[in-house]
Amino acid sequence: MKKIYGNTQLLATLAGMRDSGRTAHSLIFYGEKGSGRKLMADHYAAQLMCEEPVGGEPCGRCAACRNVSTMSHPDVIYVPTEGKLEGYTVKIARSVISDSIVKPNNATGRKVYIFRDCRKMSTITQNMLLKLIEEPPDYAYFIFTSESKYEFLPTIISRCVCFGVSPCTEEEAEQSLLESGFDEGEVKSAVKCFHGNIGMCTDYIVDPELRKRVDLTKRLADSIIGKDEYGLNLALFSLGSSRNDIREVFSMTDKLMRDCAVLNRSSDAALTGCYREGAERLAKMVTAYQAACIHNSIEKAWGAMEANVNPPLVLAALSADMIEIVR
Ligand SMILES: [Zn+2]
Repeated sequence: MKKIYGNTQLLATLAGMRDSGRTAHSLIFYGEKGSGRKLMADHYAAQLMCEEPVGGEPCGRCAACRNVSTMSHPDVIYVPTEGKLEGYTVKIARSVISDSIVKPNNATGRKVYIFRDCRKMSTITQNMLLKLIEEPPDYAYFIFTSESKYEFLPTIISRCVCFGVSPCTEEEAEQSLLESGFDEGEVKSAVKCFHGNIGMCTDYIVDPELRKRVDLTKRLADSIIGKDEYGLNLALFSLGSSRNDIREVFSMTDKLMRDCAVLNRSSDAALTGCYREGAERLAKMVTAYQAACIHNSIEKAWGAMEANVNPPLVLAALSADMIEIVR
């Protein structure tokens, strides 16, 4: 089983639940992309399914543990998404409800449904699932992962045990990446960009497309620093129209703005963004107030994207907003 770094208190709480037999039936693991919320969901599933847990922790050796780690346990169900927006639709919710009356057939007598990356789950879908998680069959468990717990209706949140998953320290991230066999130089540059977020560091090393998006974010920052509207447009439009790519660049740019605002107060503050030098130069020319305005315009653009506005239009509006703010 994959070793989980950081989050020691959360791991101890989960092990305690399993050990005492008071396991929560519905959970939400929330945290930023790459922070390990899916790993935590798999870990809890392994704890529930393990035939011989040790102090509440999965043994990692039994058939159930092995099957969970290869995502092939017949009673650990990764609920599929569907449609252009890759969401959990009413049809999917209906199929989960229908499946949940089928009893599991394994040694621990449990069945786990994992809903990964819940984003913009419709109210109808959530209300359908609410009925199920309000009175689940004894054997059924429901795990949701998302960036924020506020993706869910208050009624769902109140029925779930919610756990925040945090990135680890940079040292832990380095140790984990080196253990995965990555080259030391690659590990250093990944941690410089994504700090203790092991998932994003790994993607940075293995995915050239993410490295391109990081470079693009740096170009965006440089264009803002140079008040270069043409360069800003060029960088934004080279993003294409993939909503996921755009979201990722928005999120990285937003972190730079946060870093810039923080650096305005203290020059040795801990940063979260992928471009320390850029944030430092930005902080010299952009006030904390302007950084907050840029953050608001990114939020506005993000909202428009989620409301299905055409990506090129969203990017054009964002570029105009940013230049207006720093002009
Ligand atoms: Zn086991």
